[in-house]
Amino acid sequence: MKRITILGATGSIGQNTLDLIGRDADAYKVVALTGGQNIDQLARDAIRFRADIAVTADPARYPDLKAALAGTGIKAAAGPEALSDAAARPADWVMSSIVGSAGLAPGLSALGQGATLALANKESMVCAGPLMLAAARAHGATILPVDSEHSAVFQALIGEDLSAVERVIITASGGAFRDWPLAELANATPEQAATHPNWDMGQRITIDSASMFNKALELIETKEFFGLSADKIEAVVHPESMIHALVGFRDGALMAHVGPPDMRHAIGFALHYPDRRALPVERLDLVALGQLTFRPACETRWPALRLAREVMAAGGLAGAVFNAAKERALDGFLARDIGFLQIAEVVEEVLTRVSAQPGHIDAAITLDNVMQADHLARVRAEEIIHQKRG
Ligand code: NDP
Ligand code: MG
Repeated sequence: MKRITILGATGSIGQNTLDLIGRDADAYKVVALTGGQNIDQLARDAIRFRADIAVTADPARYPDLKAALAGTGIKAAAGPEALSDAAARPADWVMSSIVGSAGLAPGLSALGQGATLALANKESMVCAGPLMLAAARAHGATILPVDSEHSAVFQALIGEDLSAVERVIITASGGAFRDWPLAELANATPEQAATHPNWDMGQRITIDSASMFNKALELIETKEFFGLSADKIEAVVHPESMIHALVGFRDGALMAHVGPPDMRHAIGFALHYPDRRALPVERLDLVALGQLTFRPACETRWPALRLAREVMAAGGLAGAVFNAAKERALDGFLARDIGFLQIAEVVEEVLTRVSAQPGHIDAAITLDNVMQADHLARVRAEEIIHQKRG
């Protein structure tokens, strides 16, 4: 029986993971489920899957969780430390699907006990790729990508020699605003940004798709995860979201991963790896599909992509600063303190200010330094948002 923990069980990826596990429940023992504000869902799933422990990230929600689990024998816990403790409970496979840099410490904790980490939380690779890979090496743990593009690249690389890779192309749907005139983007609302043309995902990543910050994070994730140089990594807009990524080899061959936009493919691949088992995803009818189209991922329209290039060139803690500034700017957009186009302006300004302070970007990539850079970037972003409002 495979022992499973899901960090971020109440979210979109967490629920898709439980959907797969629920189809073959006898094959799995659920150790820990974690969530944030959605206590009803967390308690319901903990009871349904007979988890040992359920954890909410928010200490203020502990009484609710405790009450919801009363009499079930399932342990309740709360707070960031409890999340990392839950991730350290012996398990064979841990899904890292908390949103944001809050997923980093629990993910590291899961690696520390040698579990296979199915990584949806791209932020941990962006903030601390070398730390994640070193932790996996030190504890004999495996990290499997769950982000659809990175799962696609991983699958295209099976049996291949990384040194034969000439380029990696990840695709972007273009998000909610791909067909909007540039002039109208300034007035885009959070509600408009939170509707995705192809994928059904959490609110934050959906808005990040519209701003292309999701693809920016993924360019950095590709570099960190596969150890490729930035000049070998490209993004292309592919409105149908059927091809997730392509790997180009030095003989000119391009290996594409094609499938419907359903995260249960990438999750299921990581769940059963190295086996390939049947998954409940739609089988594509290519004739019905008719055509697949591609457009340039324009760095003028989407400055996030240009900033990602700068972050990859800078290295060090630039990824942590970039991600945290984006997280804070996104909060500002959601609160209507800044407009849609100002998300990228805030991030760029934070990168400029933090980079100007010696020792901030080139400090060693330790968990403490990453969390400090994350904090500093949020403080700077807050100041800039305040100025823009004022
Ligand atoms: P959701 O917003 O749907 O879910 C996020 C999860 O994290 C929820 O369980 C939420 O709890 C929990 N959470 C929120 N804040 C915190 C916090 N501060 N500390 C601990 N837990 C917290 O996100 P998604 O499932 O869409 O995305 C999860 C991760 O997977 C992200 O990193 C995203 O980029 C990545 N990803 C997602 C894809 C998708 O299809 N959704 C595709 C590829 C990657 P609660 O809801 O109970 O408050
Ligand atoms: Mg993705």
